[in-house]
Amino acid sequence: VNLILLFPEDFVCGAPDRVLLRGRRLLHVTQVQRASIGDELRIGVLGGRIGRGRISALDSDRLEMQIRLEREPPAPLPATLVLALPRPLMLKRVLHAATAMGVKRIALIGARRVERSFWNSRALRDDALREQLVLGLEQACDTVLPELRLSTRFKRFVVDELPEWSAGSLALVAHPGAATECPRQVGRPITLAVGPEGGFSDFEIETFEEQGFEAVHLGERILRVEAAVPALLSRLL
Ligand code: SAM
Repeated sequence: VNLILLFPEDFVCGAPDRVLLRGRRLLHVTQVQRASIGDELRIGVLGGRIGRGRISALDSDRLEMQIRLEREPPAPLPATLVLALPRPLMLKRVLHAATAMGVKRIALIGARRVERSFWNSRALRDDALREQLVLGLEQACDTVLPELRLSTRFKRFVVDELPEWSAGSLALVAHPGAATECPRQVGRPITLAVGPEGGFSDFEIETFEEQGFEAVHLGERILRVEAAVPALLSRLL
């Protein structure tokens, strides 16, 4: 955690510059950052500006800070990520990494080689998804949550919804063995689709292509999704 993200309920009633923290964030401040009264911590308001908070009171139960907001959060990455739903542990890592890299729109979709049981995982509960997004923001000193869309139906999402999402962007589907090498530093917004552990099927690649996506490869080394996503985003943007 490199920034403490503040939520509306953290603010002391009637005082826009005073916050009270308990629980996970209090433990982090005392046990990891080992901060004490008078120390300043990096803070950000959910969906808003970032700045500093000076600790004015601290005990084992609560921390009080006086905050001042100084600047806007970092610029978003102009990328939309369409991800065939990975297994739960990988999902957590990818959501965290994509959020930390500044992706602001993520779709988790079904595909032929996505195991159906993944859709029932606890990692897909609203609170679990939000936790990874918040941790990603706190990692990267950002405050703006990505928009998240879940769709179990591959074709319905790719044909009916994706065209609106990808309009005006360079639309790519990462596919080992594709004829075209993934471009570098494209300098424009992208929509990037990444497949499941078993890869997208031929039908799925054709469906993306019908929607204006180009299949691209990253070289002959086939990476896990959690490695492929940051590698592709870094290379493209
Ligand atoms: N056996 C699968 C295949 O050949 O498609 C491997 C899938 S890979 C573990 C999971 C996803 O990561 C792929 O569907 C693709 O989107 C992305 N990926 C991993 N390595 C890649 C590479 N070298 N080139 C393009 N995409 C890659």
